[in-house]
Amino acid sequence: MTMKKLRLILGDQLNHKHSWYQEKSKETTYVLMEMGQELTYTTHHIQKVVAFFLAMRSFGEHLKSQGHQVIYVNLDDSRNKQSLTDNLKWLIKENNIEKFEYQLPDEYRLDQQLSTFSESIEIETESFDTEHFLTERHDLKDFFEGKKMLIMENFYRMMRKKYDILMDGSGPVGDKWNYDHENRKKMPTSTTIPSVKSFQKSVQEIVDLLNDQNIKTIGRIDPKNFIWPTTRDEGLEQLDYFVEACLPQFGAYQDAMTTKGWSLFHSRISFALNSKLIDPLEVIEKVEEVYRKDSEYAPLSAIEGFIRQILGWREYMRGIYWRNMPEYAKKNFLEHKTKLPSWFWTGETDMKCLSHSIEQSLDHAYAHHIQRLMVTGNFALLAGINPDEVDQWYLGIYIDAIEWVEITNTRGMSQFADGGIVATKPYVSSANYMHKMSHYCSQCSYDHKKKVGENACPFNSLYWEFLDRHREKLGKNQRMRMIYSVWDKNSDESKNQTLEQAAKYLENLEQL
Ligand SMILES: Cc1cc2nc3c(=O)[nH]c(=O)nc-3n(C[C@H](O)[C@H](O)[C@H](O)COP(=O)(O)OP(=O)(O)OC[C@H]3O[C@@H](n4cnc5c(N)ncnc54)[C@H](O)[C@@H]3O)c2cc1C
Ligand code: SF4
Repeated sequence: MTMKKLRLILGDQLNHKHSWYQEKSKETTYVLMEMGQELTYTTHHIQKVVAFFLAMRSFGEHLKSQGHQVIYVNLDDSRNKQSLTDNLKWLIKENNIEKFEYQLPDEYRLDQQLSTFSESIEIETESFDTEHFLTERHDLKDFFEGKKMLIMENFYRMMRKKYDILMDGSGPVGDKWNYDHENRKKMPTSTTIPSVKSFQKSVQEIVDLLNDQNIKTIGRIDPKNFIWPTTRDEGLEQLDYFVEACLPQFGAYQDAMTTKGWSLFHSRISFALNSKLIDPLEVIEKVEEVYRKDSEYAPLSAIEGFIRQILGWREYMRGIYWRNMPEYAKKNFLEHKTKLPSWFWTGETDMKCLSHSIEQSLDHAYAHHIQRLMVTGNFALLAGINPDEVDQWYLGIYIDAIEWVEITNTRGMSQFADGGIVATKPYVSSANYMHKMSHYCSQCSYDHKKKVGENACPFNSLYWEFLDRHREKLGKNQRMRMIYSVWDKNSDESKNQTLEQAAKYLENLEQL
């Protein structure tokens, strides 16, 4: 006899291809829920909330159209208890459920909540894989067992071989595994940037719902023109657009920054991927197929560079998360304590690199990797901002921010708060890097060439002050030796001037 089952689908578990959906049974009910609990653990960007609600609603409709039984709990449903476990208790009771099933959450918080809940209820429970990732939760831990350094490149090469991606027999196509050094070009001002693909959806109803329910959000939205892909078809369309319009130049300008555009040659598929509407292997195979069909269409550096982000970094970060949680969320290796300046929430700063990166984050819930790492992240690290505050900001503001990929990138890669688990050295730079890679400095009221004095770019003195302040912790790092020897060659007078300039800036972060 079949049991009456309730199957939970979380907002980031919208995997159309999941084996759950191969069977159809009147005894199985799927549930999706819009809940206060998920809207308040951080303050989210309004576009992020809208994207999740739209995606969940369409997914629920899709399942119904396939003949499945679906309960969709709207945010303003009077029976909605706004808590995952309270809602589950209500639904289990009301529907005389005999077995509760769920897919393993990607967030530690939800994983704990659901395993505790499962132990507390009297009916049978079972958890399932999400069938999305290319690795199991603990594969990375096993791969690096006994190793001191968790080098991403080693993991990535193993993944290339395992999935036979960009391989030529037992070696990499083109005889090189990694083309990273070809992916760091400054973009000429004359470069034509492809237009940003928009799905032009009207989302007024959800915006009104959030207002009526007094949900606190950040950022801005155009309710008549919602641009993000929120269905599987749209996710695939976005990927096609990337291949057509962006891929050939993705590699060269992957690290470039300009005020002329906000996503440049990037794919903007992270929401579709992280909500599992599309899956990593189909994205990777699509891009590899482009290369196999016509190796001249896009440089191998673009193809390999893009595939590395998904097959390498994305899976690697997930493995780092499960290897190190929950301790990871408390790590603060450099003991940073400063509050995040309030202009992170408004973009009102005279530093052009920061105002542009923050403004576009508020406008679009998006910044590309180098803006996240070398502009906002770099500044927060140099200024000694508490990683808890940095995490909250990143977790809220980006459309793709889910803790497993947000915290490893922010606390780990960007803030070096994990003491070197993800990055072998802190990602910090002076204005030199920004001037080399962006068009920001020429439009800024600060002078990128000046270290001290009026209008000196804050990044310059803050950079040296950061190194000086953390000498004890960073001085022994092999990869930092050279930069410390450059600092040591300065006269005491010059060092003092730099440190005084930095001290002034650090005391006045709000006014920068
Ligand atoms: C401080 C900081 C915070 C970040 N927070 C998030 C986050 O919350 N969610 C998130 O998905 N990514 C995060 N990233 C990684 C990366 O910036 C985004 O994945 C990327 O900008 C998304 O835009 P895109 O789809 O246009 O990416 P593209 O540049 O087109 O890259 C393609 C895909 O590769 C994957 N990818 C690229 N870099 C990474 C990376 N470092 N880690 C994991 N996957 C990667 C993403 O799935 C992305 O969609 C963060 C990076 C930094 C430095
Ligand atoms: S001068 Fe300094 S603050 Fe201004 S854009 Fe360049 S790096 Fe940023």
